[in-house]
Amino acid sequence: RTSPAPAPASTPTHCPYCALQCGMNLRAAAGSEAAGGDVVEVVERTDFPVNRGALCGKGRTAPAVLSSRVRLTRPLVRRPATGRLEPATWEEALAKIAEGLGRTQQAYGPDAVGVFGGGGLTNEKAYALGKFARVVLSTSQIDYNGRFCMSSAAAAHQRAFGLDRGLPFPLEDIPRTGCVILVGSNLAETMPPALRYLTELKENGGTLIVVDPRRTRTAEQADLHLAPRPGTDLALALGLLHLVVSQGRTDEAFIQERTAGWDEARAAAMAHWPEHVERVTGVPVPQLRDAVRMFCDAETGMVLTARGPEQQSKGTDTVGAWINLCLATGNAGRPLSGYGCLTGQGNGQGGREHGQKADQLPGYRKLTDPAAREHVAGVWGVDPDSLPGPGRSAYELLDALGGDIKSLLLMGSNPVVSAPRAAHIEERLRSLDFLAVADVVLSETAALADVVLPVTQWAEETGTTTNLEGRVLLRRRAVDPPPGVRTDLEVLHSLAALLGHEKGFPVDPEEVFDELRRASAGGPADYSGISYRRIAEEDGVFWPCPETPAGDERTSGQDRTAGADRSAGADRSAGEDRTTGQGRTAGAPPAGDDRPAAPHPGTPRLFLDRFATADGRARFVPVAHRPAAEETDAEYPVLLTTGRVVAQYQSGAQTRRVDELNAAAPGPFVELHPRLAQRLGVAEGERLTVVSRRGRAVAPARITDSIRSDTVFMPFHWPGEGRANTLTNPALDPTSRMPEFKVCAVRIERAQD
Ligand code: SF4
Repeated sequence: RTSPAPAPASTPTHCPYCALQCGMNLRAAAGSEAAGGDVVEVVERTDFPVNRGALCGKGRTAPAVLSSRVRLTRPLVRRPATGRLEPATWEEALAKIAEGLGRTQQAYGPDAVGVFGGGGLTNEKAYALGKFARVVLSTSQIDYNGRFCMSSAAAAHQRAFGLDRGLPFPLEDIPRTGCVILVGSNLAETMPPALRYLTELKENGGTLIVVDPRRTRTAEQADLHLAPRPGTDLALALGLLHLVVSQGRTDEAFIQERTAGWDEARAAAMAHWPEHVERVTGVPVPQLRDAVRMFCDAETGMVLTARGPEQQSKGTDTVGAWINLCLATGNAGRPLSGYGCLTGQGNGQGGREHGQKADQLPGYRKLTDPAAREHVAGVWGVDPDSLPGPGRSAYELLDALGGDIKSLLLMGSNPVVSAPRAAHIEERLRSLDFLAVADVVLSETAALADVVLPVTQWAEETGTTTNLEGRVLLRRRAVDPPPGVRTDLEVLHSLAALLGHEKGFPVDPEEVFDELRRASAGGPADYSGISYRRIAEEDGVFWPCPETPAGDERTSGQDRTAGADRSAGADRSAGEDRTTGQGRTAGAPPAGDDRPAAPHPGTPRLFLDRFATADGRARFVPVAHRPAAEETDAEYPVLLTTGRVVAQYQSGAQTRRVDELNAAAPGPFVELHPRLAQRLGVAEGERLTVVSRRGRAVAPARITDSIRSDTVFMPFHWPGEGRANTLTNPALDPTSRMPEFKVCAVRIERAQD
């Protein structure tokens, strides 16, 4: 096993949880014997610009999971005699996985084995897992839980701009714009240190509009809060665009010079009259007018979306409608303006760039692109024709378990809690011939496995992540893992060897990253100019960052100093190549000078002179409102929406193991309006059963006037009787294959104890 160099006394690194990837220092300290020796303390790290030392409770307490008493430190194998998971050696556990996967493929073919990854895996792991699936297993059936996170925004980004990077500008630009429309994001709970960007926006005289069916702690900061009925954000965006057009607030010069498809998009928006939009969304027309006035009066504006509009069966079109609003008002591809997605999971951005997604190869390349297949196959040393084609999306893959997918290898995910229609997915997992899971604790999904492998965590291993800004970061190993635990890279190395691939799966993360760089070279997400050394020296590098010598044309975007003249074709930065309209790298020598070129500086800001489409123009996409896949009726008269609370993270596999977080957020609840509570005769704290067409969940009532009276809210972090995802609807967006987590029809009953 290869270990990176010994860590210094205090190690700069990043939080294991959300996509903000807050910087922190970790310091090893002597721990109690009961906890197994060394423990790790979090020490403030103020030099990392994203969070400047601020952390939420999850990040501050993350080391508790390292020394948790329920930490897995030995492989487990299910024994036929007892039917229980019992300790085993690594050799036995790995051999059983190789045998289980191999047996399935011999009997049913390569695609009978599925692979499921996670948006929390480092770039190196995501890359190695995708390569393992396609080279060792030759299966097309690989996807990951990031599909449940921001895939609709990614698809809309691709469609409009030709490239998907969550934020095409750094967070530091947000306080300097004029107006932000924040759609379906509760930053105050999901990534609290990011709230300061909105606070500073207001301190600088900017305005904040929040769109959310709940008056969240974030919405309370807003100058204007729009509370649409869940599932109607698309209609809301169309209504705003209608008003922008009818009030003559479009930016015609920008539309002419930088976009295509406006006539069709305008016609689609003009079919959505504000009065009709009010009936659909419940947002009064005067509020729509206020929003248009605030957004258009600002010199520059941004629209930021999160899971609210994205986790819908029309998520791609919904995000597309908000992008259309940006394009029509000239708020894209210019300094201090644009559309961005606030990605959720820790490596939700990098996790979708390096090949664990069903339809993609490393570098964000399309699996169906012959040139991409040839390039990546060359790096992998295999025949391009041997690479399988695209497989099923995450929910479709999970739904096929026990059907034509007989065995599954799962890393970094807990779908028993996090997948929609979770009871059904749990049953599918139980029906598998063979299930292998690598995790740090015995998650609800790991508990169903035939073999469980105990793996290292964030602070025990080195690897890169890419935060929501597209900033590639280095998480450093700060402490030794407990004896008996191995890294995911070691697991893949060993399994590959057992399955006949002695080479090609190194265990050293830097070696994997160097291969990833080569695989990504020339692709949309080009990491070839990024190295561990550069990340360490520069505290993060924004992709695309090609290794191509400076002075060459860039492929997908370019940076220009924020605050520069916003008019298209206005003054360009010194050194820019006027024939291509693309920025020339700072430090590049002039033509004819053969001195070594400076390295590419990375690209904090995309699209400033051209979008990443073939003709450089952004695309309007005509979209129309359509209802949620499931509307209310007499049997299910209330809407359910789901989300997160500040003290828990995603399926809770890690945070539910931290006492301090459990004390703050011990379990699920059903948030409902006093009018609905009165109609149902429900009192605060009373146990309620929420029933949907897919099942029932039980949790106490929390009565608040901060939610619409036609809607209830449940957080989704817990398993058992309060599992919110038992209720959610797996109706899929036709483009992104995102399930409709954010809206379904339910009825509320008083629970029978
Ligand atoms: Fe920062 Fe997110 Fe970690 Fe909280 S969970 S400390 S917001 S990275």
